Amino acid sequence: MTTVMQEAARCLLCEDAPCSKACPAHTNPAKFIRSVRFRNVKGAAETIRENNALGAICARVCPTERYCESACTRAKIDGPIDIGGIQRYVTDMERKENMQILHAGKENGMNVAIIGSGPAGLQAAATLRQKGYGVDIYEKNAKAGGYLTYGIPEYRLPEAIVDYEVQRIVNLGSNIKYNVAVGKDITMDDLKAKYDAVIVAIGASAAKTIPMFEHNICTESAISFLARAKENKGKLDDLPDNVLVIGGGDVAMDVVTTLKKLGVTHVTDMVYEEFSEFKASKKELEGAQKEGVTIVDGYVPTDVRQNKVTFKHRKIDSEMTITADKIILAIGQKVDADGLNIDIQHNEIPFRKVRFHTKDPKVFATGDIVDGDKTVVYAVQKGKEVAEEIDRVLGGQDND
Ligand SMILES: Cc1cc2nc3c(=O)[nH]c(=O)nc-3n(C[C@H](O)[C@H](O)[C@H](O)COP(=O)(O)OP(=O)(O)OC[C@H]3O[C@@H](n4cnc5c(N)ncnc54)[C@H](O)[C@@H]3O)c2cc1C
Ligand code: SF4
Repeated sequence: MTTVMQEAARCLLCEDAPCSKACPAHTNPAKFIRSVRFRNVKGAAETIRENNALGAICARVCPTERYCESACTRAKIDGPIDIGGIQRYVTDMERKENMQILHAGKENGMNVAIIGSGPAGLQAAATLRQKGYGVDIYEKNAKAGGYLTYGIPEYRLPEAIVDYEVQRIVNLGSNIKYNVAVGKDITMDDLKAKYDAVIVAIGASAAKTIPMFEHNICTESAISFLARAKENKGKLDDLPDNVLVIGGGDVAMDVVTTLKKLGVTHVTDMVYEEFSEFKASKKELEGAQKEGVTIVDGYVPTDVRQNKVTFKHRKIDSEMTITADKIILAIGQKVDADGLNIDIQHNEIPFRKVRFHTKDPKVFATGDIVDGDKTVVYAVQKGKEVAEEIDRVLGGQDND
C-alpha cells in the first residue's frame, strides 16, 4: 500500500501547475503537496483552507477525476497523483491536532443574512466572517449542510465530518438559526429590514419528475429516499425486496448503492444514456456494479401502471416491462424558491454581476439556485465569490 509520503514524492511540483488550474475553488495542490513533502502539515492545511472552508468534505466527495486529477501531469506518465487522498490526510491531521487555521476579521459593523446552510451558504459565511461581517444563517432544516447532510450517503461522507466542518464555521462567529424557512416562518422583507445584505443560497431542493410518474403512489424521488436513509441512519423499515431506479447520474448511483447496502435483493437501474455516454463517475458506477446492481442502458420509460413500467430502447427495436415493489426517480433536482419572491438577473448587466445579483440591490443569490445541479467544490467557489461581491458593494467599491 502506498503511503501519503510516497504518493506526495511522486508529485512533480509542476510550475504553473495544471492541477491547480483545474480546481473550481482554485486550490493549489502543488503547494500543499510540497508542504506535505517537507512534513509541514499545518502549512498544507493553510493552503487548502485559504480557498476552501470545506476542505475536509471536498477531500471525500470531490469528483477529482473530472477536476485536478484529470489535469495532473503525472496522469500521462504512470497515473495521476491521488490529490484527494493527500488532501484527506492533511485535513484529518488538522482535525486530530485541532489546528485553528481560519480566523474572524475585525468586526466592521455590517451584517449579512444567508438563507441556506449548504456548501455555498457555509463558504459565504466563512469568507464574510474573515472580512469582519456579522453573519446569521437561516436554515429550514434541523441540521446544517444541505445535501452534505441530507443527500450524500454516509458511506461516502460521514455525518461527523460535516458536523466538524460546520462547527469550524460556527466557531468563526457565524450564527445558524435552525428550523426557519424563509418565505414561510419569516419573510424576505423582514431580513431586508434587518441586514445590510441577504444571500439566497437555497440550492436546488425539489426533485425533477416525469409527468407520467407525478401521481404514481409507488414512486419516490431520489432526494426524498436519500434524505430518509440518512436521517434514519440507514434503518428504513418500508424497503421492499425489488426496487426499480430510473436515472444514470451520480445521484442514481448513490440510490442504487444505498439500496443494496440496506439489504434490498433486487435493484434494477434503467438508464437513458448508453454506457459510452454515462453521466455517473466511473468510480460511482463501478461501486454500484460491485454491489450487484443490475444496470440497463439506453432505455426510456414510455408507460407506467401502478408498479409496472414499460421502457423502449432509444436506438434499437426493443421494449420491456418491469414490475417492481417500489420505483425511485433519480433524474435531477430543480429550484424551489416559493415565497422568496426573488428574480435573478440574467444578461442585463455585466457578467461579473449577473451570477450573483437579483433585481433587488440588497439581495444576492449563489450556489445551485443560480448554477443548477453542480458540485460541492463549485458551490464553495460561488460562496466565496458572492461574499467578495458583497464586500465590494458594501465597501463602497460598486462603481458600475
Ligand atoms: C444525492 C446527492 C449526492 C451528491 N453527491 C455529490 C458529490 O459526491 N460530490 C459533489 O461535489 N457534489 C455532489 N452533489 C451535489 C452537491 O451536493 C450540490 O451541488 C451542493 O450541495 C449545492 O450546494 P448549495 O449550497 O447551492 O445547495 P444545497 O446543498 O442544496 O443547500 C441549500 C440549503 O438551503 C436550505 N433551504 C432551502 N430553502 C430554504 C428556505 N426557504 N429557508 C431556509 N433554508 C432553506 C436547504 O435546507 C439546504 O440546507 C450531490 C447532490 C445530491 C443531491
Ligand atoms: S499536476 Fe500532478 S504532478 Fe504536477 S503539481 Fe499537480 S499533482 Fe503534482
